[in-house]
Amino acid sequence: MIFDDELLERCISCGFCLPACPTYALTGEEASSPRGRITLMRALETGQLEPDDPTLVEQSSFCLGCRACEPVCPAGVQYGNLLEQWRDHQWRGRDRPWLARVLMAVVARRWLLRLQGLVRRHARARGRAESLMLGCVERGLYPAVSRAALRIAPDLNVPANQGCCGALHAHNGESGRGAELARELGKRLPGTIVTTAGGCAAHLAAQLGRDRVKEFSEWLLERNAWPDGEVRVDGRRARVALQDSCHLRNGMGVTREPRELIKAVADYVELPNAGSCCGAAGTYSLLRPADSREVLAPKLAEIESAGVDYVVAVNPGCLRQLRQGLRGTPVKALHLAELLRLAGN
Ligand code: SF4
Ligand code: SF4
Repeated sequence: MIFDDELLERCISCGFCLPACPTYALTGEEASSPRGRITLMRALETGQLEPDDPTLVEQSSFCLGCRACEPVCPAGVQYGNLLEQWRDHQWRGRDRPWLARVLMAVVARRWLLRLQGLVRRHARARGRAESLMLGCVERGLYPAVSRAALRIAPDLNVPANQGCCGALHAHNGESGRGAELARELGKRLPGTIVTTAGGCAAHLAAQLGRDRVKEFSEWLLERNAWPDGEVRVDGRRARVALQDSCHLRNGMGVTREPRELIKAVADYVELPNAGSCCGAAGTYSLLRPADSREVLAPKLAEIESAGVDYVVAVNPGCLRQLRQGLRGTPVKALHLAELLRLAGN
């Protein structure tokens, strides 16, 4: 058995999810839609299709894993779980993209993460039961985000010896290992885990329980703990848009909190499709760069016509995608923690 029967049977083939799916929007083909992929999964489960069937191979990788199909589904299909089970089977051993294999090997080794330096530099233990998780991508690429978060929330504990949360594994065909890494991290970070990465928050919440995990904006808003000042550009209040994190929005239902925080320090501008995927999608932008850019393109056009100074991300993968896409334009991409830090200056 590849899939959890109950999960696979839940789909009633109504098609409500089709307009929400970014890959269906790109191709207009049923096979690239959530309903079409569930039909493929059923064919794999019953043996009608072999795992090396070209459509199965292509669609298991073309899917962004953004889970935009979940909140719109009247039958409560847990598509994210189905995709994890599909990739566990489809991407076994050598069938897993080599780049995904390399990335998973790197982030699962804590000594490599320590080489990135930030854990030691930020490590501090104050006996509190609320810890800031230093995500793997953020540690390597955007240490300024962790520094900004700690300036805004100086009371958070930052234990040393942090590892990977396992989200990368869960989304790339190793969901068992992904769950194991989440449990290990849960033991190393006692009490509430606060994270600035929407993707990690959703994975940890699914593995450790929703009450153990707070995304940074949720945690700040609960405490009314944002800076008093405002972000200004050219003598006026800055105009700031948000790009939702797919897993934060579709997996945890967190949408209001980052918007409220932006409104507290700047003029908030809602992008027409702030909730749709930016194409970063974890490893997707590395594994399928051309498709990733195609998903991003209409979003860049929206950002340009919105006339904003900043676009804010709440996940490091989205931040990387937006920074690359906005290179050479007057709009800057920032993490929410960095924007709030600007307001606190
Ligand atoms: S996944 Fe949900 S919305 Fe999509 S076809 Fe199946 S039941 Fe309908
Ligand atoms: S996860 Fe995203 S890309 Fe994949 S089927 Fe659902 S909406 Fe489409």
